[in-house]
Amino acid sequence: MTSTPRISFEFFPPKTPEGCAKLLKTRAALQQFHPDFFSITYGAGGSTRNTTAEIAIEERRRGISIAPHLSFGCDDETTLLTLLNRYKNANINRIVALRGDMPSGMGATAQLVYASELIAFIRHHTDSHFHLEVAAYPEIHPEAESYIKDIHFLKRKFEAGANSALTQYFYNVDSYFYFLDQCQKFGIDAPIIPGIMPIVNFTNLARFSRNCGAEIPRWLQLRMKSYSNLEDMRKLGLEVVTTLCQRLLQGGAPGLHFYTLNAAKPSTDILHALSF
Ligand code: FAD
Repeated sequence: MTSTPRISFEFFPPKTPEGCAKLLKTRAALQQFHPDFFSITYGAGGSTRNTTAEIAIEERRRGISIAPHLSFGCDDETTLLTLLNRYKNANINRIVALRGDMPSGMGATAQLVYASELIAFIRHHTDSHFHLEVAAYPEIHPEAESYIKDIHFLKRKFEAGANSALTQYFYNVDSYFYFLDQCQKFGIDAPIIPGIMPIVNFTNLARFSRNCGAEIPRWLQLRMKSYSNLEDMRKLGLEVVTTLCQRLLQGGAPGLHFYTLNAAKPSTDILHALSF
């Protein structure tokens, strides 16, 4: 096992004052694990540009290590540069840089900029100020031309200046270790941290997973379908995801990045079960 696995937690920007209050409580509760950083997502197409930035800057002012997610979205270079300078001036030094997706209905017309181009842009304008995280897909990005091409384009993100990667979530531990082997064959030696999605509401998870290309194993789907109440599903989810994390850490994964959906308990239960 890695001696000190790197822990991080992802949030999304809430839309209401109640959501903001809940987020602060969640963040406070998760600080017990001394995470490397918290990250905050960027709505599809840049739709949460201001809220993401405001939350990130405010959290940094409170002394929290925070990594805003960023994509070109619908923005031009000047808008993006203004945002990067705001982050730099706020002493934010980590960004999760993505191509992003377009909000539904805009996909056909919008011009998406590949993440490698965004990384090159950030490096060109801000040199080595930011630690740049990128996305990686052990089960391969749904639009990828092929398994190998997706790894080829991941390598391009590192060549453009990325420092490490956070993965899409997955429930098949072999997909991660096979992916790492293939990445190493391509000469990628940067840390690739597995993304962990706790299982809370299985119906929602199954729907979301269909869109983002994360596979839910057949045995797990069948087992979940045999339960009629949420508490039983939650217990099985905790057992399954804790075992996944154990295997990842025992196999040498450099850390765990939790998709919290702004709730502390699911990640906390897993980390306590892992004796963190
Ligand atoms: P890229 O690395 O650009 O890859 C996108 C696709 O294009 C892949 O299929 C790749 O194989 C292909 N490709 C790359 N370069 C080329 C090229 N030069 N020529 C041809 N094909 C190419 N989405 C959001 O909107 N907001 C978020 O905050 C957000 N956070 C995320 C955090 C994590 C950890 C992860 C894993 C995903 C996140 N996403 C987010 C989702 C992500 O934006 C989508 O999966 C998006 O479709 C791809 O983004 P990317 O950065 O991986 O893109």
